[in-house]
Order: sequence, then C-alpha cells, then structure tokens
Amino acid sequence: MRDNPNLSPKQIDRIRSVALLRSVQAGEVLYEPSQPDVPLFIVLEGNVSISRTGEDDKILAVREANQFTGEMSVISGKRSLLKARVTGDGSVLELSRDKVLSLMAKDTELGEIFMEAFVARRLLMIQLGEGNVVLFGTKSSARTLALREFLTRNAHPFTYVDIDSDSFAGELMEKLAVRNSEIPVVYCNNRYVLRNPSIAELAQCLDLNINTDKSVRDVVVIGAGPAGLAAAVYAASEGLRTLVIEKSAPGGQAGSSSRIENYLGFPTGVSGQELANRSIAQAQKFGAQIMVAQSVVHIDTSRQPYKVILESGLKFNARAVVIATGAQYARLPIEDADAFTGRGIYYNATHMEAQLCDSEEVIVVGGGNSAGQAAIFLAQSSAKVHLFVRSQKLSDSMSQYLIGRIEAHFRIDIHYRTRITSLGGAGHLEHVEWRDDAFEETKSGPIRHVFVMAGAAPRTEWLEDSFVLDNMGFIVTGPDLATFAGGDQWPLKRPPLMLETSRDLCSWRHASRKCETGCLRGRRRFDGSTPRASISCRVRGTTCLSSTDADDGHSG
Ligand SMILES: Cc1cc2nc3c(=O)[nH]c(=O)nc-3n(C[C@H](O)[C@H](O)[C@H](O)COP(=O)(O)OP(=O)(O)OC[C@H]3O[C@@H](n4cnc5c(N)ncnc54)[C@H](O)[C@@H]3O)c2cc1C
Repeated sequence: MRDNPNLSPKQIDRIRSVALLRSVQAGEVLYEPSQPDVPLFIVLEGNVSISRTGEDDKILAVREANQFTGEMSVISGKRSLLKARVTGDGSVLELSRDKVLSLMAKDTELGEIFMEAFVARRLLMIQLGEGNVVLFGTKSSARTLALREFLTRNAHPFTYVDIDSDSFAGELMEKLAVRNSEIPVVYCNNRYVLRNPSIAELAQCLDLNINTDKSVRDVVVIGAGPAGLAAAVYAASEGLRTLVIEKSAPGGQAGSSSRIENYLGFPTGVSGQELANRSIAQAQKFGAQIMVAQSVVHIDTSRQPYKVILESGLKFNARAVVIATGAQYARLPIEDADAFTGRGIYYNATHMEAQLCDSEEVIVVGGGNSAGQAAIFLAQSSAKVHLFVRSQKLSDSMSQYLIGRIEAHFRIDIHYRTRITSLGGAGHLEHVEWRDDAFEETKSGPIRHVFVMAGAAPRTEWLEDSFVLDNMGFIVTGPDLATFAGGDQWPLKRPPLMLETSRDLCSWRHASRKCETGCLRGRRRFDGSTPRASISCRVRGTTCLSSTDADDGHSG
C-alpha cells in the first residue's frame, strides 16, 4: 500500500479546478492536533512536515511538491491526531473535507489514490503507536484488555505500557497515587488522566462521536458488524443520509476473528479487523456517519420519522431503521465464569488474547466455524489447543475446510462430548475441570485460558416489547410475519416487505390509546409454531423497519 504517492500534473489540474490556491510560509501551521474536519493540502511548492501531537513535536513525515497531507480523519471528520506545519515557503491547494468527499466520489482515480494513502498512513500510525492515547494497564486486568480492544477496533493509534514490566510506569502510577481498582489509567489527548474509564468515557474524551448532528436521517443502522456496515455502504452510496450507531466498536463478532476465509472476494482470507476497517472507510467515503460506544435501547415507531433512543439519552429521527445487532456468544454456564472474563475466559480470539497465552495450553469451547477458526489461529502460538465439542462430530456445525485443517493439526486435540464443569483460580483462571461424557470421566488441568465460542443468541432483548420475536429471540420478518403465530401479527392490507419487521406492537395493538414507551413491558416472546421463521433475517444479518405508512402501503 502506497502511503506517500506523487500526483501527476494532470491529476493536480483536476484538483485545482475545485480547490483553493494558497501561498504558505515556513512556520505556518496548516492544522493542529484536535482540530475537527481537517482539510486536505496538496503541496505545489515547498515542504510540509507532519508531526505527532505532544510536547516534543516528533516529525513523522514530510510532504514535498506533488504530495498531499491527510489520513483517515480527513474522511471521518474526526479530530486530527497530527500537526501539519510548513517547513519551506511555497504554495498549496486546499480542499475542504466536503470537497474531498465529493471529489473522491466523482474521480475514481484520485479517490483510490487518496483512500490508499489515508488507510496506509493510519496503519502506520497504529503500528508506531503514534496517537493521542497512552494506556497504562496490566496483562491480568480484564478492563485493560477491554480498552485495548476498543481502541484497536476503532483503529485508534495508542501506546500500551504494561505497569508490571515497565518500572518507570510503575513509579508513575505510585506518584499519581493510582489504586489497583483505578487501573487501567488512560492519558488522553495529552491533557486528561482517566482512571479505569468506561469505553463511553474514553470515546467521549477522544471525541470519537464528533460531527453527529441531530438532523433527520434517511436511515439509522443499529449495529456496526459486517451486516450493519454493509447496509451503511449501500445506503450512503445511494445518497441516503445514513447514521450507524454501535454499542461498542465497529466490526461486531467478525472484528474479534483472527482470520475469515469464506468471505467473498478475499481468497487468501482477511482478519476481521481489516474487514471492518475497510468497510468503515468505504461507508465514510460515501458520507455515512458512525457513532461508537452508544447503545440503542428503544425505537419509538408511534410517529414518523421514527425516533431511535439511546441509553445515553440521545435521540435520533430516522425515516427507516435497519436493525443489525447480530448475536453474541452465551456466557459459559459455570459458576465464576463472569468473574474470570478477561482474566482467563475470553469471548474473542484476536492477536491481543493470543499474546496473553503465548506458549501455554488453551481450551477452545465450541463446534462452529468461529471455534474452529480460533483453534487454528491459537495453535500458531500456543503449546496445545484442546477443542471441546459437545456433540460427537464436527461436520454438523463446522465447514469442511476447517475440519480438515483441525484434524491434521499436530497442536490441536479434539475432545468430543466434553464440557467444562468448574473453574478455579485466585484473580486469574488457574485451573479447569471438565467432563468427558464419551468415556464418563472427569478430568482437570492447570489451564489458564479458555476461549468460549458456543451458543450464540440474538441481541434482541431490548426489542421484546415492541416487535414480534420468535421463541429463540430472532426478529420475525417479511413473509414469515403473515403466517407467524396464527397470522394475526400483521395489521396492514399489503403484505410485509422482505425483512420488514412487525409494526410496533405498542402502537398498532393499542391504536386507540396513546402509546407510551414500555406500555407493553413484560410482554413475552411469541412461541410461534414456525421456529425457522427468523432464519431469513439471521442469514442476511439485517432487519429493516421500513418507513411504510400504516395504511398507504407505500414503502419509504
Ligand atoms: C471469533 C469469531 C470467528 C468467526 N469466524 C468466522 C468465519 O471464519 N467465517 C464466517 O462466515 N463467520 C465467522 N464468524 C461469524 C461472523 O463474524 C458473524 O456471522 C458476523 O459477524 C455477523 O455479522 P452481523 O453484522 O450480523 O452481527 P455482529 O457481528 O454480531 O454485529 C452486531 C453489532 O451490533 C452491535 N449491537 C448490538 N446491540 C446493539 C444495540 N442495542 N445498539 C447498538 N449496537 C448494538 C454489537 O456491538 C455488534 O457490533 C466468526 C465469529 C467470531 C466471534
């Protein structure tokens, strides 16, 4: 990937027609760290140095004639992490962020050059840890792991300092009188010290949700997994004003996968993180906005536009809502499992978790593709991977290409009909006991790391009061609605659209009364007679709440 390409005279001429020509002098600052909506500068004559934020002003790159400034923050509109200073008199072409986006949409050749350089520069910053965050934590702290994952999955460059192995950091924590319960500590924006912050507090400190105004959106997408990001790309590329709201960080379950090999267009596989980064860049290029660390708790469909209500109290109006909240793995149903989460029990398998269990024996629980993928990935760095599967064979739940590799791998042992029965350890997991039902034996071992990838359930609890769900919690959509639970769940004359949800139970069943949030609180799921009813929405990953008016049969 080219991070510092030269533009040809023809390409510069195309930019010149929409840009502002500026003379610049040595010492002039073109943009500062923390500045939102940074413009793009094409150097015509002279030099511009790019330095990182901080007191020491370390120069990371120099842009010369025919080269340009900028990285991913130009696309996202988020605050700049870097400073651009003129180091040799000359002239530049200045393009505002809006003009950059519109030029990239119209001129594919320039769009590709800019995008490739922006992505490569952000990757370089991540590799070098050149950002505005220093995270002080420990390997045994679940909160440290959660913040590292959040920053990584937001492609936000940061420096990680392990307090246990860095004596300077240990002394610094003592000087700051940091108690154990206040670890991890985040030094943010060269100004703020956050003690054991939540991801929402960290996102706020870094202004990750800047630029999300309150205007009505054509589409609000809930969830930024692969399905939500795909919906955002397609909606934004059609010119719809699109906002994606994500509870944690973009990428969803796929973001926690080390390698995905069955995604169309990636013959050699792609890491979940890279897939997410590419999708975010693609969605933002078309103008979609992405909010992170914000959870949606209710959709008010009693009026149009619909109102999407967040846990933080924020509200957004939308003409259509796409629910792409995916699934999450069930917690290990063992006493103390929650206490060990992030301290030996993991629901992700990325490079960060792999570092924590380097050269140790690990257990992976699950018989699906995610467990298989995790087992192969962890076998690269662990001493041994024990794959615990509840059934007697893998072929019912795992793709054949993974089964072949797992069976052939000398560091993976498959344990059929095996389940964990207890966990032990002081602080960190130190000991696991399991039951082998095939041989009717109970065994145990000093295992310190267990990866759980079994029993995924849809994340629809918050929708129970409003929409028809099946007995598994999947949203019933489209033609299935017409037949579900005796067929009385659809009030309109026209049939439901493909992937359309039920009308808000609250508003149409109680049409005569004023609908209040929670008026059906306590309403249970419908135990439908068609348990496969929601398979269509699970496979496609998204569920659309269309803006069709109740009685006009007209889709929005
Ligand atoms: C370790 C691992 C490895 C895998 N490997 C493979 C593989 O090799 N091949 C394959 O095909 N599949 C694989 N999968 C499965 C694949 O990742 C999922 O099928 C895919 O991510 C589903 O995408 P999604 O967008 O529907 O949902 P998710 O990926 O589940 O994304 C949903 C998003 O919605 C957010 N969200 C949930 N509730 C709310 C709310 N109320 N408000 C706001 N946001 C919310 C979540 O935080 C999440 O980011 C793997 C999964 C894992 C965990």
